[in-house]
Amino acid sequence: MNINNIYIQDITGLTNNTLNISILRADLIDPVVSGNKWFKLQLYVRDAIAAGKSTLATFGGPYSNHIVATSKYGASMGLQTVGFIRGEKPVTLSPTLTDAMENGMILHFVSREDFDQTEKIISHNQDPSWAWIPEGGYGITGAEGAKSMLTIKDTTSFDTIICAVGTGTMMAGLIKAAATHQKIIGISVLKNNFSIDAEINALLTANESKKNFEIIHGYDFGGYAKHTTALIRFMNDSYKNLELPLDFVYTAKLLYAVQNLASKGKFEPNSKILLIHSGGLQGNRSFKKGTLLF
Ligand SMILES: *Cc1c(COP(=O)(O)O)cnc(C)c1O
Repeated sequence: MNINNIYIQDITGLTNNTLNISILRADLIDPVVSGNKWFKLQLYVRDAIAAGKSTLATFGGPYSNHIVATSKYGASMGLQTVGFIRGEKPVTLSPTLTDAMENGMILHFVSREDFDQTEKIISHNQDPSWAWIPEGGYGITGAEGAKSMLTIKDTTSFDTIICAVGTGTMMAGLIKAAATHQKIIGISVLKNNFSIDAEINALLTANESKKNFEIIHGYDFGGYAKHTTALIRFMNDSYKNLELPLDFVYTAKLLYAVQNLASKGKFEPNSKILLIHSGGLQGNRSFKKGTLLF
C-alpha cells in the first residue's frame, strides 16, 4: 500500500469534444486495498487505535472491496479483523474472501435477512476491544478520510470532479474538500437509489450541503454489480485505447457515463474535468478468465 503511487493521468479519446479530462489514479495505491477504501478507512483505523481497540469488525458481500481492504489495512496496522459476510458460506470462497482470510480476517457468514439487521449483529457480538466500521465505510469518519483524495495531489485547477457513488461516503468527502469553483458530480451505480441524496447530506454540515454537487442516475447497467456485454467491451476498449484498467462495478460505469454525458453536451466546452479512479480492480476476478484483456 503506497499512496505515493497516485498520479493524475490525462485521458485523450474518451470524448471527441473539447474537454480536458484527467483521472486521479487512486487505484495504484494497492491492487487489493482499492483507492477510495484506503482513504475511507484511514480515520476509522486511527480512531480505533487511539481508543485502544485491538480488532476492526465490519460487514460486506463476498466480493466486497471494503472487506478485503479492511483485512489488509487492519493487518498492516497490527489489528485483528473480523468480517460479517452476507449470505451462507459458499463451497468455494471467492478470491476476495480468500484474500481476506489470508490477511488474517475472521469470517462469519450470516443469512441475508440477518445481515440486514446490523444492530442485532453488533449487540450479539459485544466486545469492548472491537471497533465497528459500518458497511462500505459509510459515515462521517469515512467521509472525513475521503477528503484527502482531493489534496493528495494538486486538484485546484479542475472545475468538475466526477466519481462513482455506492454509499456516497467518498462523494461526501469530495464535496467537503471541494473549492467554491468546483462542482462534484456522482454517478450512482445502484438502480434508482434515490435515497442517496439524503444519505450524502447526512454526512455534510449545513454549509457543505450548499456546495455545488449533483448525483446522476441511469448508468447502473441493470443494478449494483450487474453488467452487460457492452460494458465489458467498453472496459476492454478503455484498456486498449486509454491505458486504463477499470472495474465493472464502479469505475467502468463512471467512465461510460462521462462519455455518454459528454456526447449529450452535459459539460461546458474547455471544461477541466477530473475523474476519480477509486480502485476496485480486485472485483474483476469474478469474471471468467479471458473476459477482460487485463
Ligand atoms: C466502494 C467503492 C466505491 C463507492 O464508494 P462509496 O464511498 O461507497 O460511494 C467506488 N469505487 C470503488 C472502486 C469502490 O470500491
